[in-house]
Amino acid sequence: MTDLKRRSVLAGAAAGAVALGATAAAKAAQLGPTFGNPDNPPQGAINSSAIANAEPGPQFAQLRDTMPAFANPPPTDVGGMAIPWASFNLAHKRIQNGGWAREVTTKAFPISKDIAGVNMRLGPGGVRELHWHQQAEWAIMVSGEVRITTIDALGRAEVSDVRAGDLWYFPPGLPHSLQGLGENGGEFVLAFDNGAAGEFNTLMVSDWLAHTPPEILAQNFGVPAEKFKDIPLEQLWIYQGAKPGPLKPDQVYAASSNGRPDHPFIFRMSSMAPTLRQPGGEVRIVDSSNFPVSKTVAAAMVTLRPGGLREMHWHPDADEWQYFIKGSGTMTVFNTGPAAQTVNFNPGDVGYVEKNLGHYIKNTGTTDLVFLELFKSDHFSEVTLSQWLANTPRQLVREHLRVDDATLDVIHKLKDRRDVIA
Ligand code: MN
Ligand code: MN
Repeated sequence: MTDLKRRSVLAGAAAGAVALGATAAAKAAQLGPTFGNPDNPPQGAINSSAIANAEPGPQFAQLRDTMPAFANPPPTDVGGMAIPWASFNLAHKRIQNGGWAREVTTKAFPISKDIAGVNMRLGPGGVRELHWHQQAEWAIMVSGEVRITTIDALGRAEVSDVRAGDLWYFPPGLPHSLQGLGENGGEFVLAFDNGAAGEFNTLMVSDWLAHTPPEILAQNFGVPAEKFKDIPLEQLWIYQGAKPGPLKPDQVYAASSNGRPDHPFIFRMSSMAPTLRQPGGEVRIVDSSNFPVSKTVAAAMVTLRPGGLREMHWHPDADEWQYFIKGSGTMTVFNTGPAAQTVNFNPGDVGYVEKNLGHYIKNTGTTDLVFLELFKSDHFSEVTLSQWLANTPRQLVREHLRVDDATLDVIHKLKDRRDVIA
């Protein structure tokens, strides 16, 4: 297990080409692999004829072509794994006046046991009503501006405005609300630390009041029961609210005489310097070490340059949930069996890799690939193949890889990468 902050996770785009030699790399790209194990078991178009590999039956090309790695997998793939792919693009929207939400939970994405994802938009003044969850809520703003409100268990309030790139974290049970600001409102992606949770099964103020006898409300708040004659009888969930005023008066009104919460519930990732920057890309890690309130969710925001590779690795402590924000790429997941399955990712897609399964992600587009890795954990951790082999006795590595001395030297030096990390 290693600390990512001290070493490399991104293989440079050029590294593979240098190792192979430009001519060999070009040949491999043209003809497919000329080594490796595409024949045992005998899977892949490389073993087939054009006529045997045709698809004359019914098909819907627009859908098929969004996942070329399924229609024509790399010959090193061996199928049969749970699909590590889902997408907000194909999630059913709940639309109400004021905004909308769609979610990817274990109902539609069964392997996603640790984390459920929600994509929500609130128009200007649109309110996600006062509510709470049995789970923790982690979120990233992807567009616009939103005002959050919450309190901790001592009644200490936080009211803050968040913008694209900012995060928030509400521990389980802490009540909160969200409201779109400005001329355009805001959009964000939430993650619950339970794959079966969702935005359609939450605890809401409107529901509770509507299902409490008026005389109990009267006694609870110390006002006559008839004062509650106009309470909503159906949940508000998302509604169109009045445009909120400036932040400061809201903060003053909500402030507790007990002071402020121990830790902020928001984190300005937009202004955070990269934890790691390399030729192939950069990574920003936000976990409980720099965002103390986030005790059950650790995050890494990864940017891969065109051709860049998020190197071969796995995570010993937690499953990985991914959200793809910009660009396009592929991920291949390795499992026992052996099995290996490649999937394509585009903006709005969600990925999931179970704990300890090997994987890598390649930017296959012409622009940066930006995605988020989330873990149900208080810290980020991983093991990389390169660091493992760099820190293993030479003879063992030679026997496993059957490579020459010069290659062993290159691999051994990979452990020194940590020295160049800022
Ligand atoms: Mn919530
Ligand atoms: Mn990973």
